[in-house]
Amino acid sequence: MVLRIFDKEHIRPFFALIGLFVGICSFVLFDDRLVAHEIWMGTLIIGGLPIVWQTARGMARGIFASDIVAMMAIITAVLVDQPFAGAVVVLMQSGGEAIEAYGFKRASSSLRGLLERAPKRARRKGDGRFDEVDVSEVRVGDILLVRPGDFIPVDGTIMGGEAEIDESALTGEPIPRGKKAGDRVLSGSIDLNGALEMRADRLSSESQYAKIVALVKKAQEEKAPIQRLADRYAVLFTPLTLLMCALGYWITRDTTAVLAVLVVATPCPLILATPLAVMCGINRAADAGIIVKGGSAIEQVASIQAALFDKTGTITFGEPLVDAVVPLNGESADRVLYHAAVLEQYSAHCIAKSIVKRGLESHEVLGTPSDFHETPGRGVSGKIDGEVYLVGSSSFVSEQTGIDWMERFGAEVDRIYSQDKVLILVAKGRDLLGFIVLSDRIRPAAPAMIQQLRMLGVKEIAMLTGDSRKNAEVIAHLAGIGQVEAELLPEEKVGFVEKMGQRYFPVMMVGDGINDAPALATATVGMAMGASGTAVSAEAADIVILFDDLSKVAEAISIGRRMLYIAKQSIGIGIGLSFVLMCVAASGMVPPAIGAMLQEVIDVAVILNALRARE
Ligand code: ADP
Ligand code: MG
Repeated sequence: MVLRIFDKEHIRPFFALIGLFVGICSFVLFDDRLVAHEIWMGTLIIGGLPIVWQTARGMARGIFASDIVAMMAIITAVLVDQPFAGAVVVLMQSGGEAIEAYGFKRASSSLRGLLERAPKRARRKGDGRFDEVDVSEVRVGDILLVRPGDFIPVDGTIMGGEAEIDESALTGEPIPRGKKAGDRVLSGSIDLNGALEMRADRLSSESQYAKIVALVKKAQEEKAPIQRLADRYAVLFTPLTLLMCALGYWITRDTTAVLAVLVVATPCPLILATPLAVMCGINRAADAGIIVKGGSAIEQVASIQAALFDKTGTITFGEPLVDAVVPLNGESADRVLYHAAVLEQYSAHCIAKSIVKRGLESHEVLGTPSDFHETPGRGVSGKIDGEVYLVGSSSFVSEQTGIDWMERFGAEVDRIYSQDKVLILVAKGRDLLGFIVLSDRIRPAAPAMIQQLRMLGVKEIAMLTGDSRKNAEVIAHLAGIGQVEAELLPEEKVGFVEKMGQRYFPVMMVGDGINDAPALATATVGMAMGASGTAVSAEAADIVILFDDLSKVAEAISIGRRMLYIAKQSIGIGIGLSFVLMCVAASGMVPPAIGAMLQEVIDVAVILNALRARE
């Protein structure tokens, strides 16, 4: 992209550069010291005023940031009549601000691109024809026509037709997926080749695409924490600079030495290099499909000590298949499945989806339940034809009915139920109707990812699940996780995260479900599986993995590490060199003009170093 110099942010450094250059020309070519001096002084005053004004205003509001040294250098340069050095500081400071503004503008241009790609129009069926309407007018239940090449306007279900659907904008998955009647489609994906009739299941504002845009927006708006790392160093650096100024004056009894110290101290590595490295790291992560909400998250993820994982939907695919339906007490398997499916229509849990899908295979239509209630991470209840039904884990159904069904049917269960299955109980009133056995596959990337975390120095790894211990232990063993906490309620997951937080810092929690959201918000770094997970969990998390790929967890840590290493290295090099120069300057041996140029060399080196975080 061409840097447009006449933007507001660019005009100041451009002006300072021209002023310096014209002054140098008149000095070198025409040997006219006086004119050069006047030009530099003009540049210093005109270019420096806004910086002094800005910083003073910030100080009046109680903000003591790293630009204070630059402000002092500018004022001192005017007072001791050394305009060249002062003008270089103006260039440095305003150039820094311009680069920062450029970075954020670029970040928001990627957001604009995302917004431009958002579906805008839909074709809605009414009176036997299709009318083109704005997507915001689409209501849940509307029947829509999607033609080949169209965006899917809102999340919904295909009613008729078949097509290859390109979901790459949402999931990063480049290979299109064939979809047909009954399959779900997400807004923002593209119909490549077939005409589809679909039913709208969600409003446009609640559909997948809108959620992703909102997430990215939020991630980018959180600008403030980006400077945290830098400000920690600024707190030490500014007083040190003042001390060196005093020392310089004491040694030389000359204000020129004070200016020289201020000029070489202008802490560009802090003002610029750190935010630049952090921004590069965040962009780098975004390219890999990892949305980081703010600078502190990427900084913290770099040094994770304990990593906690949810099971269903995180370590496993969260697409369990119904293996068997086991009726009890003379019920038919079909009735057990039917009643479970009717209730589960109202739940967004992955187990619910599988049960509903199975139910629809043998029933054209499912009835509607009333008084539906979901207990996240445990099960659901509701009324069908006036009778109360329960579907959920053994502990949930046992608790609700007041009977320990596992004790009563333990032998039966052991016969039908091998260890790596999910067991769901279906009850009517206080009677158990039967079991539904599902199996969920572990994500193949899980064991390697866990191993990688160990190699990256994560000290404690545990799995937290709402599922039964039996199944949880099998999955944890396959994944290579030693510690398992099973049958946890959402608040118990929070409790465990807090307990870990007392021993380790920072703690990361990775999850996908509604029942994980509180734990994600509690952990130092919450990481959500964005593609398959629930919106609530993505909202609660600090980092969202857009693609359904577990290896991204380790990748996020690696990217954070590299970013932090480069940022610290830049700070170290910058402050170290500045300090050496400051010592020399305090002795009065460096004229401010030379100091300014030396400092500029350090700046460029440090900025170039920070930009390495991009790769
Ligand atoms: P986690 O993600 O913590 O591993 P889940 O979200 O799978 O746990 O919930 C734990 C258990 O709660 C499930 O194994 C299941 O027994 C039960 N459960 C939760 N929601 C439902 C539901 N909608 N229908 C049936 N059972 C459910
Ligand atoms: Mg889960």
